[in-house]
Amino acid sequence: MTIPLLGPVNDFVFLKNNLAFILVWPVLCAILAGLLWGLTLSTVSEDKRLLKDSALKNSASLSRAYAQYLTRTIEQIDQISMQVKYDWEAAHGNLRLEDLRKRGLFTAAQFAVVAILDNSGSPMTYTALPSRWQDRILANQLSFHKNNNSSALGIAISGMEDQAGKRLVYFTRRLEKEDESFDGIVVISVDASYFSSFYDEQSLGKSGLLAVVGDNNMVGTSRVGDQVYNASKQAFTGELVLEADNGTIRVSGPSHFADGQSRFVSWQSLRAYPLTAVAGLSEEELLSNHSNDWSSTKRYTIAGSIFLLVFALAASIMASRLAWRKHQAKEVRDTYRLATEGTDDGFYMMHALRDMQGKIIDFRFIDCNARGAQFFGLNREELIGVKLSSMQGEGYFKVLLGIYSQAMETGFHEDEYELSEESGLNMAWARRRLVRSGSGLAVTIQDISAKKESERELEMLANRDGLTGLHNRHWLLNFLPGAIASAATENHQLALLFIDLDGFKNVNDTQGHAAGDNMLKSVASRLQSVLRPSDNVIRLGGDEFVVILQPVERDSKPARVAERIAEAFKQPFWWAGEKHQVGASIGISMFPRDGRDSETLLKNADIAMYSVKAAGKGYYDFFRPELYAKLRARFEMEQALMQALEQNQFVLYYQPRTNTLTGEMTSMEALVRWIHPERGLISPAEFIPIAESTGLILRLGETVMEQACAQIAAWKQLNLPQIPVSINVSARQFHAGDLHQKLIDCLRKYNVRPDLLEVEITESSMMGEDNAIIAELASIRALGIKLLVDDFGTGYSSLSQLQRLDMDILKIDRVFTNELDKSSEGKIFFRAIVSMAHALDMTVVAEGVETREQLELLRALHCDEIQGYFISRPVPAEQIPALMKKGFLLPDEYPRLETNLLSTV
Ligand code: C2E
Ligand code: CA
Ligand code: CA
Repeated sequence: MTIPLLGPVNDFVFLKNNLAFILVWPVLCAILAGLLWGLTLSTVSEDKRLLKDSALKNSASLSRAYAQYLTRTIEQIDQISMQVKYDWEAAHGNLRLEDLRKRGLFTAAQFAVVAILDNSGSPMTYTALPSRWQDRILANQLSFHKNNNSSALGIAISGMEDQAGKRLVYFTRRLEKEDESFDGIVVISVDASYFSSFYDEQSLGKSGLLAVVGDNNMVGTSRVGDQVYNASKQAFTGELVLEADNGTIRVSGPSHFADGQSRFVSWQSLRAYPLTAVAGLSEEELLSNHSNDWSSTKRYTIAGSIFLLVFALAASIMASRLAWRKHQAKEVRDTYRLATEGTDDGFYMMHALRDMQGKIIDFRFIDCNARGAQFFGLNREELIGVKLSSMQGEGYFKVLLGIYSQAMETGFHEDEYELSEESGLNMAWARRRLVRSGSGLAVTIQDISAKKESERELEMLANRDGLTGLHNRHWLLNFLPGAIASAATENHQLALLFIDLDGFKNVNDTQGHAAGDNMLKSVASRLQSVLRPSDNVIRLGGDEFVVILQPVERDSKPARVAERIAEAFKQPFWWAGEKHQVGASIGISMFPRDGRDSETLLKNADIAMYSVKAAGKGYYDFFRPELYAKLRARFEMEQALMQALEQNQFVLYYQPRTNTLTGEMTSMEALVRWIHPERGLISPAEFIPIAESTGLILRLGETVMEQACAQIAAWKQLNLPQIPVSINVSARQFHAGDLHQKLIDCLRKYNVRPDLLEVEITESSMMGEDNAIIAELASIRALGIKLLVDDFGTGYSSLSQLQRLDMDILKIDRVFTNELDKSSEGKIFFRAIVSMAHALDMTVVAEGVETREQLELLRALHCDEIQGYFISRPVPAEQIPALMKKGFLLPDEYPRLETNLLSTV
């Protein structure tokens, strides 16, 4: 494996490795362009060559045709001259050409002059007077014919022009006398330009050449296009016409042609006459037709070349990009491999295989790390190149292909999954991560089997309550939403029973945590014993339990279950040979009526439970919206109480207790009142229960204690009779355990004698065989504070219990006072209590005495003291001094008894 290099060195290596690949297109294109140009140029030069060949051929045939034409034309002149000769000879010189002309002979325009010269060269007869008879050419012809007795036509081209500036061609013929001696010549002079009328643009073009050249290379006439040269200035020098009878040649411009054009020239000498016909085709003209073709060919070739250039450029850019990408991909892959080797995760590079429609049908392993191969029980070399489909069962492959294809689309997929037998991977749980990379996927597989196993164990732990083995809150919060959803879809109800133990805290506080734990375990199994196995019991925490009932049709079902539970709690729990008692308050909320989510259902069941507690515990109730309002009111009351404590809104009223016989004030009970800034005086019946349940009673109790002591001290300061004050102490104050210490502190603070303070404890708060309570009561009593049993008769305490607790005074609840004059049972009860209390050396107080009759009966029953409206209502402290001074508190009609008299009663 190569370690990827970075920086310019790397770039250089890249270039070196990929140069051929990058340059292949430009090179190919250059070759193509060369071929194109070569082909084009060779075609063009071949064309040119063909053109030239055909031009030469054409000019050759043109010169031949011209020669024929000239021969024919001269033959006519030949005959005419022959005719004139014979006519002259026959007429023995008696022929007048002038007359012949008048008769219409020789009138053709080409005939400049027809004349007969005598043997000395003097004109004998003529159609017109020749201007230059002196012309040396004529003299030459005359001497030629004189010395040469041939009858052939002589032809000579004059080097000079006639009067009209025309070059003439002279045709001459020997005249003979009868003895065949020389007798002069016939002369026919013809305008040389006459011979150029052969010109035809069709075959010669616009710049074609025609020329007639004489023996001495004298050009008789020449013509280029429409331009006819018939003077000393000719279009063509004539020098070219070589010795040969005919020939064909390309003649380059200026040195031979007046117009400087190059031509393909051919010449052909006439067989019968000493003249040569010359024809030429203009190279320029021919090429200009051809060059039209050529320039368009050239344009195409250039366009083709540009296209090739652009293509080559684009191709090489693309090729280098592709190569760079490949190079980078390889680098990435190498880096990836380097990074992945030696990790615990399996890495795979997979290439997507597609069908003709582009749909992914399979994947191929193109790379992996050793660990990745090991997951399949293979080594790297074995796995690379293998198709995904061959590694799994068919069914599983389909599932896998779906996931992989999806990842190719979205670019990413990550999940944890439990592996089946078919997966081919040897692990139970895996986390996979698919990332699209180029035309494939980078796949990471992590074996998370161990993690999942421990997660499962943790899950177990997380969902179970360690103490009771019941499901816990965590489980409930996971379970409820599903249960609610299924209740909603199946259209049935679900009941949530919220159970809170009554008096559990007491067990925990007084008997220790071990006892508390035992209690919770017993409670759990008791709950399960009254429920069906399918019902879910959950310990929420502390002494709170929840039962889920599902499905439920009517309220009656949860009501029955709640009743069964409440009933079950009436039986005491037994362990370690001892009896233990707790109750259960149950609040019920129903889905969907009381809430549609876990939180609301739990909260409302809790509220319902709370209201059961407030109403006296040990039973059940369904949630109703007004409970919530009540709870709110309670909460507001609690807030207000707290504020009231801070702002000292509590005052004490005092209600005297008197001796039944003497009417003397023996003591007075401090009763707390809340002077609310808006509502005025609020009765303790309204706020004491709330203060009790919220714990505020502790602070309130202290305030009362403090105020009572302060009051005693104040009255002492006023030198009033020292009469004890009893304060009411709640059960919670007792259980707090530091009551006697608080009392000591308070008495000390106000310097109050202990015998001036009494403590009232309700019968129910002293219940139970609790040693801590006994000790607390004993230590209070040891201070010299009297202990009163309040509301006696309403609880379950027995007199023997009271004796053990060493109580001083028994206050019989006013329910019994009320019964006194109504039934004989009332009196019997009272008499029994009084006699037993006296036997135990306790003083008996009747509460709530309101009538004279009650007083009379109580006197008869030997009840020691009375308290009630008949004597006095509870009054503010300011009114107490007056009562103290009065001393005797029975109504006036009762005679004031002396104390000594009492002893006799
Ligand atoms: P309790 O301790 O039984 O107090 C006696 C209650 O009976 C007082 O009610 C008093 O006004 C009322 N009462 C007295 N004579 C008569 C009568 O002839 N007829 C009738 N119908 N009622 C009579 P109050 O003051 O409303 O107190 C109610 C309860 O509040 C008390 O009952 C006591 O349990 C509690 N309480 C009052 N002050 C305190 C306090 O400072 N601390 C504690 N913990 N509880 C207190
Ligand atoms: Ca009381
Ligand atoms: Ca009472």
